[in-house]
Amino acid sequence: MATPVSRVLSSSQLAMLAEHGEERTAEVGETLFQIGDKSYPFVAIIEGEVAVNDAAGQEIVRHGASGFLGEMNLLSGQTVFLTAVVTKPMRYIAVDREELRRLLFEDGSLSDLLLSAFVERRELLQQRQGIGIQIIGPRESGETRRLLEFARRMRLPYSWLTPEEDLQAAAVEQLDPADMPLVRLPGGGELRRPSNGELSRALGIGLELSKREEVDLLIIGGGPAGLGAAVYGASEGLDTLVIEGTVLGGQAGSSRRIENYLGFPAGISGTELASRAISQARKFGARTATPYRARSLEPGIARHLVRLEEGNEVTARAVLLSTGAEYRRLPVDDLDLYEGISVFYAAGPPEGQLCAAQRVGVIGGGNSAGQAAVWLARGGALVTLLHRRANLSETMSHYLIDELDRHGVAVRDQSEVRGLHGEHGQLDSVTLADGSTLPLSFLFLFLGASPCTDWLGEVVARGPDGFILTGRDAGTQGLLETSVPGIYAAGDVRAGSIKRCATAVGEGAMVVRFVHDRLSPVAAR
Ligand SMILES: Cc1cc2nc3c(=O)[nH]c(=O)nc-3n(C[C@H](O)[C@H](O)[C@H](O)COP(=O)(O)OP(=O)(O)OC[C@H]3O[C@@H](n4cnc5c(N)ncnc54)[C@H](O)[C@@H]3O)c2cc1C
Repeated sequence: MATPVSRVLSSSQLAMLAEHGEERTAEVGETLFQIGDKSYPFVAIIEGEVAVNDAAGQEIVRHGASGFLGEMNLLSGQTVFLTAVVTKPMRYIAVDREELRRLLFEDGSLSDLLLSAFVERRELLQQRQGIGIQIIGPRESGETRRLLEFARRMRLPYSWLTPEEDLQAAAVEQLDPADMPLVRLPGGGELRRPSNGELSRALGIGLELSKREEVDLLIIGGGPAGLGAAVYGASEGLDTLVIEGTVLGGQAGSSRRIENYLGFPAGISGTELASRAISQARKFGARTATPYRARSLEPGIARHLVRLEEGNEVTARAVLLSTGAEYRRLPVDDLDLYEGISVFYAAGPPEGQLCAAQRVGVIGGGNSAGQAAVWLARGGALVTLLHRRANLSETMSHYLIDELDRHGVAVRDQSEVRGLHGEHGQLDSVTLADGSTLPLSFLFLFLGASPCTDWLGEVVARGPDGFILTGRDAGTQGLLETSVPGIYAAGDVRAGSIKRCATAVGEGAMVVRFVHDRLSPVAAR
């Protein structure tokens, strides 16, 4: 595994942190935080040295003078996955988590340094075995695959063991199959067949909603459109709540690198863009609740009622539907047996590591497929890109086609997968429509997306493909208003929208203006 790049604080940053934290000392052998702790302060090292170890006591990294400890869980509040032990007598500054968050809002260069280090450290942890949660469940179980997918999307460090592979197998064998999968938490404790919400809350992630909430603006879906609306809504004084069914950041959060987002000439990873947006929304007081999925929407005159899957209810004076779109699946038998094990919809660090030196198929002709193919090939996979058209240049940017060539990705035009073959979820080969067979161990699907609108039924007008109609198409004057007054749609879920991050964020921001016009027509002018 790669070791984290050493990043250091400048003397002026250390001085500034000293004003906001507490100077402490620690002797050799002292533990600064350990696996399972619910929280820890940010640690900036003035002098001395500290080793960061995994559960087996193996050293992952050492930090010395001007270095700092922390990764994504410092911001998200998740349970601690690692242990920090002093190796040379230390003098350090401990900054409380809430205080650190406040500083990150105010200090751009500190925020740049820490956020990029935290994101990078999390990505490295995800690639390492034996860190984070353990999921123990059979390959054939849909519930196991659900939890694996959730952990992946949450970017949680995890390891997955089948019951036979588990070291404490005897204990697991006695379990009722209805209690599987079993999840072991960092620092002890286990959950039997937890829902995504139960797992999140056991790890200290996310806000727990009351049974009934009342807000000004309820945003359903925490992708770029929803987060854009949250930043503007909360900063302009609306009591704003975002509910997100899986992981904040949406599709953008799963992108390896977004190259065309204004203000980031070198590109920015989806994780980092999402982390920055979440911090910004929270800075202005927006609340974000995950994983909570909207199940139904009942329009009212003064307030609309949204019921959530876990039984909670939220009433809101205005509702933004920003539920985006979901990846299309391959129309082949038994796909679900492979999903999450050898068939994926995003290519991140864990998948990159899994696929090194393996034969991998990437299916799709768009830029997302191209980006994933290049990323996997750079990680050492033998990649074949399969797509339906005669020429890739009809659907993919030219620079990416050049990159495919440069990284040795084989391209098969006019190819469609018709069958998957393998055992226990592990793919061996695929059959194509022309009858040929390709030996592939992993497949990545980038087949476009369908809108996440089924749960809405007939409540708002939708186009023939399910995307939500707004403005004149919905019979209203309001540009982003749906057929129901006070209910808006923005981003990929909206019929006719440009499916890009910047446009989703822009639409989210615009909605807030319309909400203000509706809620306080005089003040808004
Ligand atoms: C791999 C990849 C790479 C990309 N690269 C780029 C790029 O380089 N540049 C660019 O501009 N665009 C890129 N895009 C497109 C861009 O990410 C999308 O246009 C953008 O994310 C749309 O934002 P959104 O907020 O409208 O929807 P989404 O990002 O889809 O977010 C919607 C959110 O709503 C949640 N949700 C759905 N249903 C419910 C429900 N019932 N209750 C609660 N929550 C729900 C979903 O879980 C999701 O998090 C990429 C997309 C992908 C998949």
